[in-house]
Amino acid sequence: MHVDRDIFKNALDAIIIVNNAGSVLEVNPTAINLIKKRKGKITGQPLITFFDGDLTKERGEVMLKNDDAKAIDKEIILEYTKAEGTDKDKYLYFFRDISEFKLEIKRREHFLGIAGHELKNPLAAIKALDQMLLRSKKIKGDEFLETQLKKIDSKADTLTKLIKELLDITKIKHDTLGLNIKRVRFNSILDDVVEDFTRTETAHKVVVHNPTDVYINADPERIAQVIINLLKNGAKYSPNSDMLFVNVEKRKKYLICEVIDFGIGIPANELGNIFKLYYRLPDREYSFAGLGVGLYIAREIIKAHGGKMKVKSELGYGSQFNFYLPLKQKIKNGQHTISRR
Ligand code: ADP
Repeated sequence: MHVDRDIFKNALDAIIIVNNAGSVLEVNPTAINLIKKRKGKITGQPLITFFDGDLTKERGEVMLKNDDAKAIDKEIILEYTKAEGTDKDKYLYFFRDISEFKLEIKRREHFLGIAGHELKNPLAAIKALDQMLLRSKKIKGDEFLETQLKKIDSKADTLTKLIKELLDITKIKHDTLGLNIKRVRFNSILDDVVEDFTRTETAHKVVVHNPTDVYINADPERIAQVIINLLKNGAKYSPNSDMLFVNVEKRKKYLICEVIDFGIGIPANELGNIFKLYYRLPDREYSFAGLGVGLYIAREIIKAHGGKMKVKSELGYGSQFNFYLPLKQKIKNGQHTISRR
């Protein structure tokens, strides 16, 4: 039995062997099936004859060229890995069809957008009705009813925020998170946010150190959203402390805003994961409520402003989230669309 040959013949991946010049030397049956051409029509041809995209990396994504509409009736996206052969003048390409997987992700993102809109409208109605009741003469003076209605109002706000976050994800994925850029005083954004935050989150005192007074070109609502998010996380993940620090400074070409907590911290090996969409630290998933989307959105908003976000943390001692915003923004005032590219 020739193991290598057997693997080549029976592999689920399409395997294509090319020479140094990028011409096809050999194809396995899966590759023939994928390209849908006779073996003789594939070998001897440059590999790029059959794929659209960059094939020079060690790993990547390409599309199957579709010049014969009858043979291939849908877009086929392939993930490839490239390996050097034992003979140094040959390369092996392994292709895997990920079209279904990609389609499924698109369907989920689309669903998220639809679900978000469907949830938003009845919730807005509940909030409006609740506020109408709160204003009505029949309720005014009834302490019990007023308290209960205020609770409903606050829960509706929590739900609205969650739905907005879901819709933000769809917008980020579709490059349609519009930025409404204005010339704004950073301090006034921060002051409003801190005032709002301390009104609702009474367990933590926020100490602000902000000797700067700078104007930036930014979308004030989106920047406020980022700061609120960092403060809320700071409070949520520091149940045994009652202080949060916010430091603002100008350094070189950036305005830097740090949000510091003295909470449970993040292990060093997880620091690279926390900004990923839907990522939550597995060991504390059930002890703290959340969707694992806040930091992803926050970082995308900062990136869209031409800035960056960083984190430092020590397990058991606390975390420090910093965002940098360029002082000389290239973005001009007005409506902008976030681009992830
Ligand atoms: P969520 O808080 O909804 O889970 P985030 O995207 O805001 O989602 O955060 C992702 C993960 O990063 C959280 O699940 C949490 O484990 C960790 N994390 C975020 N902020 C902090 C913080 N200030 N202290 C400790 N862990 C944090």
